[in-house]
Amino acid sequence: MIIIKTIEELRELVKGWKREGLSVGFVPTMGYLHEGHKSLIIRSVAENDKTIVSDFVNPMQFGPTEDLNTYPRDLDRDAELVTEAGADAIFNPEPEEMYTDSFSSYVDMTTLTGGLCGKTRPIHFRGVCTVLAKLFNIVTPDKAYFGQKDAQQLAVVKHMVEDLNFGLEIVGCPIIREEDGLAKSSRNTYLSKEEREAALILSKSLKLGSDMMEAGEKDVQKIVQVIKENIEKEPLAKIDYVEIVSWPELEEVSEITGTVLCAMAVYIGKTRLIDNIIR
Ligand code: AMP
Repeated sequence: MIIIKTIEELRELVKGWKREGLSVGFVPTMGYLHEGHKSLIIRSVAENDKTIVSDFVNPMQFGPTEDLNTYPRDLDRDAELVTEAGADAIFNPEPEEMYTDSFSSYVDMTTLTGGLCGKTRPIHFRGVCTVLAKLFNIVTPDKAYFGQKDAQQLAVVKHMVEDLNFGLEIVGCPIIREEDGLAKSSRNTYLSKEEREAALILSKSLKLGSDMMEAGEKDVQKIVQVIKENIEKEPLAKIDYVEIVSWPELEEVSEITGTVLCAMAVYIGKTRLIDNIIR
């Protein structure tokens, strides 16, 4: 497993692989890797001859009041996990390698990005789409792997790849959880012991909603209300949003007739956590 810092080096590596006719899988991440990331890497290793993991905290997708500076970073630890999972290289560029002083081209999407996380994080998806467009052009993978943990991102990326003809397959992978149900996240490290306990309110409330749907409830407003009331019982929790939308179009629905995404963002103390189910 090798760690690559420059775009040029990475291009050379991939060019060599392609000359040999090898397929390339790609797992974009912001590092501080956990079992959720590992599941994507393992899937890529199983389905491709070579796998590249990017490990880059992308400044462009953070708002001015967000946690860019405190976002956890540990390349040595990440390298161990990536090696264990069987990938071939980590791409870990410095921000200046990705964004020169004259950088001025962006990928902006006019659908899918306005609601859910896009409401509270208005520049987030522009940053995500722009960095992924760059990474896809640099890595030129055959397949790229994304977690359903960031369901809106998964829908957005699939759409962008079709719109802009990147010619690669986007593979969605299930959410990996802690034993007690909390979705694994690099941001879970921010939680105190008390907050970690309180954070269970996300998965527990989603389960409530899911059970209602299972029992045949079709009224979206009713389900959202029950979920919100349950979250509000937790004193450390503050709701950013709870929404049920069509999947993968992310359109408003009042009644459940097809596949839906039930998604939420909830502050536990100062930490904003997201979780969702698709059913
Ligand atoms: P991040 O490093 O948070 O940007 O995440 C990189 C990729 O890992 C994204 O595609 C995420 O959806 C995915 N991911 C993060 N957490 C999980 C999880 N708990 N289960 C599955 N995939 C995840």
